[in-house]
Amino acid sequence: MAHAEITIALAGNPNSGKTTIFNNITGTRQKVGNWPGVTVEKKEGRIKKFGYDLKIIDLPGIYSLAPFSIEEIVARDYILDECPDVVIDIIDASNLERSLYLATQLREIGRSNVLFALNMSDVAHARGYKIDSAKLSELLDVPVLETIGNKNQGVAALLQKAIEMAESEITPSKERKVRYSNDIESAIDDLVLLLAPHLNAEGLYEPRWTSVKLLENDQVVLNRLKAALPENPFAILQEKAASLREILQQRYNEDPEIVLTDERYGFIAGIMKEVFTTSPRKRIDMSRSIDKVLTNRFVGFPIFLFFIWAMFQLTFTLGAYPMDWIDAGVAGLSTLLGRALPESLLKDLLINGIIAGVGSVIVFLPNILILFFCIALFEDTGYMSRCAFLMDKIMHLIGLHGKSFIPMLMGFGCNVPAIMAARTLESEKDRLLTILITPFMSCSAKLPVYIVLAGTFFGPRAGSVIFIIYLVGILIAVVSGRLFRTTLLRGADAPFVMELPPYRVPMLKSLLIHMWDRSKMFLRKMGGIILIGSIIIWALSVFPRTFHYSRDYPAALARLEAVYAQKAADAGPGEKAVLKTERQDRRLEMQRAMRAEETANSFMGMIGRTIAPVFAPIGIDWRGGVSLLAGFVAKEIVVSTLGVLHAVDEEGSEALRQALVKSGMTPLSAFSMMIFVLLYIPCIATVVTIRRESNSFRWMFFSIGYTTLVAWIMSFIVYNGGRLLGFS
Ligand code: GDP
Ligand code: MG
Repeated sequence: MAHAEITIALAGNPNSGKTTIFNNITGTRQKVGNWPGVTVEKKEGRIKKFGYDLKIIDLPGIYSLAPFSIEEIVARDYILDECPDVVIDIIDASNLERSLYLATQLREIGRSNVLFALNMSDVAHARGYKIDSAKLSELLDVPVLETIGNKNQGVAALLQKAIEMAESEITPSKERKVRYSNDIESAIDDLVLLLAPHLNAEGLYEPRWTSVKLLENDQVVLNRLKAALPENPFAILQEKAASLREILQQRYNEDPEIVLTDERYGFIAGIMKEVFTTSPRKRIDMSRSIDKVLTNRFVGFPIFLFFIWAMFQLTFTLGAYPMDWIDAGVAGLSTLLGRALPESLLKDLLINGIIAGVGSVIVFLPNILILFFCIALFEDTGYMSRCAFLMDKIMHLIGLHGKSFIPMLMGFGCNVPAIMAARTLESEKDRLLTILITPFMSCSAKLPVYIVLAGTFFGPRAGSVIFIIYLVGILIAVVSGRLFRTTLLRGADAPFVMELPPYRVPMLKSLLIHMWDRSKMFLRKMGGIILIGSIIIWALSVFPRTFHYSRDYPAALARLEAVYAQKAADAGPGEKAVLKTERQDRRLEMQRAMRAEETANSFMGMIGRTIAPVFAPIGIDWRGGVSLLAGFVAKEIVVSTLGVLHAVDEEGSEALRQALVKSGMTPLSAFSMMIFVLLYIPCIATVVTIRRESNSFRWMFFSIGYTTLVAWIMSFIVYNGGRLLGFS
């Protein structure tokens, strides 16, 4: 008995593995020739399997069924005209989207003899792609089998499925999975209707597909129709197709074939959404491409500098708006309480101690939130480790590698987590070195000091001055690192591999959580150490009250009130308001003078005078000295102490600025003070962290001594150098 013959054609994109699978099936029994009339290779193999005579055709590789290339025409004609029993579309699973363009077109032909092989499934898997083949099969109503051609895996099952399909009488599925937009669908319907009477004509293709091709102005199909149909119906059809094309052209302002192609890709994009997912490994691939730019030898570093610059720019400029609002709120509260409460020590504590102290710091919350947001963004996207990668060369100048830069960069936010981040460094010496230089990275708590001082004395150039301060910090860190590496912590940096985790699109929620986690500390400091510090500073500046005032202030005040009461009685109704503000101003002035005398004679004043000789050579007066001393608790306290010592009430931070100018501070001494704040002893929390992380009191004291010494020397150089150069 003669075996039944089954013809199976292998279609697919070039390099999808058609020939590999063909060879797997046919072994060596194959015939290679050319398709008649064209020089496109034709491979045909015959083999007896499962009781069938199988004829396998390896079609040329194509991307589409449009008749634009010889390969496309050959493959399409074969499928359409030779009517193989089964067409297996070899899909490159590692290029699914591209492969689906041909696959959907094969589906559109409207025959039910198509079978998909998801080949290269090993490559897809290795790249972390997940393809839901059951879903794909369901969506396109086509059986889908996974294969690995070069390992001959799944090929036997594929063949069996093909035979099964050839044997069964599957009725073409009525469902049209590729749907176009309404205009196109109705044009298709019009043409299908015209074709309906000729369904039995020899050589006619499936009407819907034919209609689609007519809308695409497919010349091959047109010629085929011309041969198949009588002259008149053909002319009508051709005319109709032309006019429909014209209408579509008008409606979409685009060639219909382009519109149809676009819609097919839209359909494929929809399929991809349903069946295709990428696991993290795919992100690694994408990350590589992003890294080609961001860690590029030439543009990587400028981009990095731009990001850092943008971060500070955002912190200062964007933060300025909410800062003004909070400032106004604090000033308003202070004024309100000043009016509502009777004169007393408690009122003084509330307004001149707590509100002046805490209020002068809390206004910087927006700046700090923004800074922490940016740092969280760097971390969550995975850019932080690229920064380390980029800084590697520069860090090698210090004898450290790029990885040490992560703690340093985090130091811009807060030194405590930064020093803890140094734990990731393997070498003990590297770790210590990083811990010792991280405090020179200006933390966010120092920002308020810069903003007040630079804002007061440098006006529009404040931003640039602050940027210089930060640069000085980095420079000192680099120089110190180099110094330590050649003296205390000698040795070569340990070799390491910088891991570059895949980039992630950060989730806003996690960004906000990270930002908040760190900013919480700032707020806690407000309610805790800064509040207590402000009260202590206030108390030290008010007590003891045993000195003799240079004049009798209460009597002077009473006289003032009496004079104005008299004036008010004599004045006409128009003058009353003017008199009232004048009276308030005079009263305030007198109260300030009294307060200044009290402060000068308070404990604070005594401390200030004792330490004044230390700060005089660097251009800082006793108030500045005391503020710096208090700043050991937390750097924000430098500002709040200045606020208390300059007896700033009622007008918010604007008043502090005026008071600073009046106190005899100059741009040069302000700059000197900023340098000092930048470099001197880190805050208590940092010092404790250094002790814990280095596991030694020695290194802790070393850090305290070294930073303070460097701060004094640098400020001395700046202040005296500046004066020699004629600055003031
Ligand atoms: P054709 O252009 O479609 O005929 O593709 P070929 O059969 O020539 O295959 C192209 C390349 O892909 C060859 O090097 C094959 O060894 C390889 N290949 C085919 N199938 C697979 C597969 O499933 N996995 C992998 N990793 N490689 C494959
Ligand atoms: Mg081939």
